[in-house]
Amino acid sequence: MSLPLEYSVTLPDGNTFTQPTGLFINNEFVKSVSGKTLDSINPSTSEVNGTVYCAEEEDVDIAVKAARAAFKDWKKVTGVDRGILLNKVADAFEAQRDLIGAIEAWDSGKTKEQNAVYDIDECISCFRYFAGWADKIQGKVIQNDPKKLAYTIHEPLGVCGQIIPWNYPLAMAAWKLAPALAAGNVVVLKTSEITPLSLLYVARLFKDAGFPAGVVNIISGFGAVAGKALSSHLDVDKIAFTGSTATGKLIQQAAASNLKAVTLECGGKSPLIIREDADLEQAVKWAAIGIMSNQGQICTSTSRVYVHESVYDKFLEEYTAHVKEAYKQGSMFDSEAVVGPQVSKVQRDKVLSYIEIGKKEGARLLLGGEKNSEGELSKGFYIKPTIFADIKPEMRIVNEEIFGPVVVVGKFSSDEEVITYANQTQYGLGAAIFTKDITVAHTMAAEIQAGMVWINSSNDSDVHIPFGGVKMSGVGRELGEYGLSIYTQAKAIHVNLGNKL
Ligand code: NAD
Repeated sequence: MSLPLEYSVTLPDGNTFTQPTGLFINNEFVKSVSGKTLDSINPSTSEVNGTVYCAEEEDVDIAVKAARAAFKDWKKVTGVDRGILLNKVADAFEAQRDLIGAIEAWDSGKTKEQNAVYDIDECISCFRYFAGWADKIQGKVIQNDPKKLAYTIHEPLGVCGQIIPWNYPLAMAAWKLAPALAAGNVVVLKTSEITPLSLLYVARLFKDAGFPAGVVNIISGFGAVAGKALSSHLDVDKIAFTGSTATGKLIQQAAASNLKAVTLECGGKSPLIIREDADLEQAVKWAAIGIMSNQGQICTSTSRVYVHESVYDKFLEEYTAHVKEAYKQGSMFDSEAVVGPQVSKVQRDKVLSYIEIGKKEGARLLLGGEKNSEGELSKGFYIKPTIFADIKPEMRIVNEEIFGPVVVVGKFSSDEEVITYANQTQYGLGAAIFTKDITVAHTMAAEIQAGMVWINSSNDSDVHIPFGGVKMSGVGRELGEYGLSIYTQAKAIHVNLGNKL
């Protein structure tokens, strides 16, 4: 018997809704051509949360064709009207904030009250911000020769393929969909095979807002099949990806098939530096939120903390006490829980293996360092918030992305030394500096190899401000005006005003 295209769900917090299972193509939910499906697993119980249709190459092609056909009329829609549609999506998110937050929590394992609902706020801000840009996309008049009028127009790219990870399914989708649509593109977005549910629910909101059929297409599917087909497709003009650096490299290779434009937001191992003159109480709190929120599954997690030797012991004592007290672990629907389960068993086991590596490498374990198997938590993929101290630069736990609630802490004696540590990994996503010395803060910000530097905060992202990395953390920027520019291309028009041959 084939899978129905929708089913009813009642969540543990009492929210009820209808979960679609199909591929969202041309404003309809459809079955995959092969009929293949994939299961989404509940991170706190290890049970199947839902089953959805799974796209393969043929389905990707159908979605791309739908998008290409829709582009013909969509590119004639005014910026004002595109902005109105995006604002309607924001309105729908606002009206259903609690429900959508609950679905996101259920799908990904993030705690609803302490994490997921804030992701919905982020989506709302993102749709509204780019809605505001939709009618402000302008080229330039270039004045050089009185006998020539030259100007540029900023055109949409066409069909944009978008591939997102599981750590922020809805926010990552909003970061990609909003600017692409504001700029007049059409989209085929592939969700992570681990978290397909929330985006399918949300897909309908685009149709309800009035987006024409084929402008927004959302498909579930595995990376090696559907993701590969989308990134290598000859009729896709751009691919925007968020995920691991290893996959980013594959995407860039696949995109070479037709030289499509590429934006990559990949991994990180962001340092957080605490100087002798820092406000230690604040540094403790930011260093905790920087790694423990979203279970440490944030690309910009400040997963390496470097503390000046004069305040190292004091910091470790206060930091350990703060994490123990403020980061309660529990299921997605436990309203007091901050740290939920890791998203999957594979991810949980990967993080646990890094913890074992850290122990073998000789780092000093101050907190956690194991699964959380207390009561009901034993059914899920929980890892206790973990702190390692006394790290050495060559350790794997210092250089490799763990993507869990695991932080490594080391000491330094000079600014020069800590800048060397900060820049030692292959990554360059974010970096945080805690100091009261404004000159040192700005000098360090300039010397650190990172796409983003936070002075006296950590892990800060803001829809108005560009987000992205250098080195192997990525290519290009999302958010802000820069994030809009990756979805347009400049066409130059030369008008001869009298130059005769
Ligand atoms: P992943 O690379 O395994 O998967 C990301 C997406 O790529 C998924 O949709 C997956 O299906 C798809 N994919 C996998 N193989 C593919 C292929 N060969 N071709 C095309 N698509 C393919 O990453 P993940 O495990 O889902 O997410 C965790 C990683 O994402 C971490 O490394 C994290 O740092 C990174 N991340 C980065 C940012 C950022 O903005 N820099 C944000 C969030 C997550």
